[in-house]
Amino acid sequence: MSKRLLLVEDELGLELTLTDRLISEGYLVEVASDGETGFKRANSEIWDLIILDVMLPKKNGFDICRDLRQKAINTPIIMLTARGQVIDKVLGLKLGADDYLTKPFEMMELLARVEALLRRAPLLENLSADIYQFGSVKVDFRSAEVTKDNQIIELSAKEFKLLRHLIEHRGNILSRDDLLDEVWGYNAMLSTRTVDVHVAWLRQKLEPNPKHPQYILTVHGLGYKFAG
Ligand code: CA
Repeated sequence: MSKRLLLVEDELGLELTLTDRLISEGYLVEVASDGETGFKRANSEIWDLIILDVMLPKKNGFDICRDLRQKAINTPIIMLTARGQVIDKVLGLKLGADDYLTKPFEMMELLARVEALLRRAPLLENLSADIYQFGSVKVDFRSAEVTKDNQIIELSAKEFKLLRHLIEHRGNILSRDDLLDEVWGYNAMLSTRTVDVHVAWLRQKLEPNPKHPQYILTVHGLGYKFAG
């Protein structure tokens, strides 16, 4: 599976050069061109690696890095600092960045660092982050703990497995039959009604307004989709 990279960079030229090259190396690359958007996306989606510029409009790279680490988001981060900013380099590593590069840098250098960090990152099945957050809900895949507004939410094993499957396939439409196979197993002699019931329970526990779900969506005639 291709690795998902988030590039937070406001210089259009560099952004295009980096994106082109990373895509040609087989990575999936998404760009945020200001700090606020970058932080939001880094915080709410699952990435394999983040390339983070320091000087950014709205929220600088140091603050982004520090805030992500405080939220226990341990996605590898490579920081891009301006030439000669030795202090930046030290500060960046102190705040939890995994590596840094000083601008201007050779593309080969960046690619080597990206590869090295991705190799180092732990493989947690399809997930590269241990914690996933949507709205005020936080899902810790390692401890199988779910909180909403910092209160622990009790989920059954099946509810958790269903939630995890939805998050791992976020953005995709999942049919009831697929969910039944994936979450309950091929041999389960159950009707797809089981899926609907568990979805309703998840909504009841996690959605801000279960009657008008924002995250666990029904796609009429097709199934469900997680929009996180
Ligand atoms: Ca910049």
